[in-house]
Amino acid sequence: MKLFQSFFGASDSPRVVRVRQELVKRKLNVTAVKRLTPHMIRVTLTGADLVGFNSPSPDDHIKIFIPGLDGVPIRRDYTPRRYDPQNGTLILDFVDHHGGPAAAWARAAKPGDRLEIGGPRGSQVVSGVIDHWLLVGDETALPAIGRRVEELPAQTSVTTVVAVPGTEDEQTFVTDACHVAHWIHRPMEQADAAAGILAVLKKLEIPDRTFVWVGAEARVARVVRQYLLDERKVPAQWIKASGYWMKGQADASVKDVGDER
Ligand SMILES: Cc1cc2nc3c(=O)[nH]c(=O)nc-3n(C[C@H](O)[C@H](O)[C@H](O)COP(=O)(O)OP(=O)(O)OC[C@H]3O[C@@H](n4cnc5c(N)ncnc54)[C@H](O)[C@@H]3O)c2cc1C
Repeated sequence: MKLFQSFFGASDSPRVVRVRQELVKRKLNVTAVKRLTPHMIRVTLTGADLVGFNSPSPDDHIKIFIPGLDGVPIRRDYTPRRYDPQNGTLILDFVDHHGGPAAAWARAAKPGDRLEIGGPRGSQVVSGVIDHWLLVGDETALPAIGRRVEELPAQTSVTTVVAVPGTEDEQTFVTDACHVAHWIHRPMEQADAAAGILAVLKKLEIPDRTFVWVGAEARVARVVRQYLLDERKVPAQWIKASGYWMKGQADASVKDVGDER
């Protein structure tokens, strides 16, 4: 594992340290599949290849490789929701949307199936004096948001604002942090609309030294980031916003919408 340069520079700002690891591919076995909520499928993986698996940041991603019809593997990004080195298990949560091969793979998955994964290769570990966390997203970001809420130190103040289709898609996170959850309900077909998330954000206090993390459909991530910059005057160094997928495009994401020109 290599540690290098914090790229959010000023001493008063949060530091985001990039951690790079050699790309390791692992062939794993599916040992359990369950429907966590109506639109989320939880897959548990195990296997000797998991030895050495390391995911330093809650918003890490791995690649999953699914056999394509033409023999060329299809690659998609997923969050290591939970890795338990004691039990040798890795949990991935798949949004059940009716579009692509990764979601279809998860719908059909059963114990005994195999899944090849690669990574995580690059992590961004946020540190520094952060008084409050604001985590914003849609169902694809729930694994990263859930992991962050669960892994924050006791008493850390964290607010989540997450859009999901309905009450039954809400998730409970077990944490020692002081967590306040806001849920927005909208059909999945409207996952590229930011209005519901913005309506909640407009009512929220965003204290100084709040680190805002956003993971959502790319248009939503852009609109939310711009709102935070323009209307709430959150400094750019205190926001990390990613487009986790793009409506109408397969295998599309924007890892940092702040880097777009
Ligand atoms: C860093 C990172 C971490 C991620 N972690 C997770 C995770 O843990 N769990 C998870 O479920 N997703 C996660 N995603 C999002 C996931 O990679 C995408 O949703 C991916 O496109 C799904 O692949 P697919 O083969 O199912 O659909 P694709 O073949 O990529 O897309 C087919 C069609 O489905 C649409 N589509 C894709 N995703 C969705 C969606 N969520 N809802 C509605 N329509 C959609 C596309 O716009 C396209 O029209 C993550 C993305 C990133 C960048």
